[in-house]
Amino acid sequence: MIPATSFHGRSIAVFGLGGSGIATAQALLAGGASVLAWDDNPQRIALAAAEGIETVDLRQADWSQLAALLIAPGVPLTHPRPHWCVDLAKAAGVEIIGDVELFARERRAHAPQSPFIAVTGTNGKSTTTALTAHVLTSAGRDVQMGGNIGRAVMTLDPFAGNRHYVVECSSYQIDLAPSLDPTIGILLNLSPDHLDRHGTMKNYASLKERLVLGSRVPIVGMDDAHCRVIAARLEDAGRKAMRISTSHALDDGFYANGPLLMRVDGGRATPLFSLEGIGSLRGRHNAQNALAAAAACLSCGLTVAQIEAGFRSFPGLVHRMEQVGRKAHVLFINDSKATNAEAVAPALSSFSRIYWIAGGLAKEGGIESLRPYFSRVAKAYLIGEAAPAFAATLGEATDFEISGTMEAAVEHAARDAAQDPVGEAVVLLSPACASFDQFRNFEVRGEAFRQAVLSLAGVEPIRGTGK
Ligand code: ADP
Repeated sequence: MIPATSFHGRSIAVFGLGGSGIATAQALLAGGASVLAWDDNPQRIALAAAEGIETVDLRQADWSQLAALLIAPGVPLTHPRPHWCVDLAKAAGVEIIGDVELFARERRAHAPQSPFIAVTGTNGKSTTTALTAHVLTSAGRDVQMGGNIGRAVMTLDPFAGNRHYVVECSSYQIDLAPSLDPTIGILLNLSPDHLDRHGTMKNYASLKERLVLGSRVPIVGMDDAHCRVIAARLEDAGRKAMRISTSHALDDGFYANGPLLMRVDGGRATPLFSLEGIGSLRGRHNAQNALAAAAACLSCGLTVAQIEAGFRSFPGLVHRMEQVGRKAHVLFINDSKATNAEAVAPALSSFSRIYWIAGGLAKEGGIESLRPYFSRVAKAYLIGEAAPAFAATLGEATDFEISGTMEAAVEHAARDAAQDPVGEAVVLLSPACASFDQFRNFEVRGEAFRQAVLSLAGVEPIRGTGK
């Protein structure tokens, strides 16, 4: 744990007592603050109290005595409407922050030289964070990884020596971190998302922009218009952004020419290495994540050879195009995290002979937007409530069956893929649906897929990593 000393001797309110809220309250206590904690859920209050944290209904608190309000990222700050604790803090003129802000203050005060790599973007945050941490670790660096992935940021090991911190930041966390100042800031991409919580695209983009504005080395994806504007603004302000692109060659920065990663310096392009054969980094979306991780690791002083070696041993994240097993020419891929059509597109575009397991609780828009990829689908195996609607969309475009359950879908898809006339077939779970009609969450759904695959005769497991 990193003791949060910036509120030493003062009182701070903590609202939102999920895992990270309780851990952050403990970090504040360890740093010498007094903490008043609360939640709208009585069970969470009881849990915090059982951990020895003082709980007080913040509606009854004397806000003139409070130095700050720390809220969990899930607590609405502005949209759809501010939470009542936010209104109380604002009325009392009390600053509102989150755990990433505490981390940034602590680092500035005690370890400003400690490398801090912050990662954001609409998609690919977890992959890029895990990949960067993996490459640095495999090159022998002392690395802590957390934030919006894995461990809450204040539960990471304390600053020491040249310890590196690789921290995934959601837009909510950036919103609550007004002085965020990473050594390296990565902004991968921007598309409309979470607008219910941020109001407009402009607000959402300007939040994400703050992460790169505050960083010493900004790394910005150039594959969408929002990010290109941000890179241009950085440069207008006299800052040099490290640019990355998977869609076009750049004059300066890093780009992908198919699987080949290139570095360009003053117009002179040199190849770094190819992603060919790295099963955990298939697809153009992963080339973007790989370019960002490579740029960050080069900036940390790693050699190209060290980065390539780290990429080659990257096991990937569970439930995100995760390689689960192989049987002869058939690869089994778990992409259970893909809960809408937009998230399925990268998986369908990464393979050409797909036995596709899809369905669950349908999301608005269904799978119509995936039509350009239907020619890659040898056959679809439909499960859950969405099955009839997906069948109607597939229509004549591709062969399908209504399998009903995960077990039946896996069994039938494996049988058909084994007889694929072209070879190199993929049985892909990429559901384009929420899971709640049949499973508790997407993780449980992914595990059901894994179990069904591994119980087939002759499948060799492929090991992944944890999120
Ligand atoms: P996040 O943490 O931002 O949700 P993940 O790394 O967990 O992102 O990836 C989730 C899904 O998003 C992946 O399964 C893939 O479908 C898609 N994805 C990953 N990286 C990118 C990217 N750079 N651009 C677009 N989509 C991506």
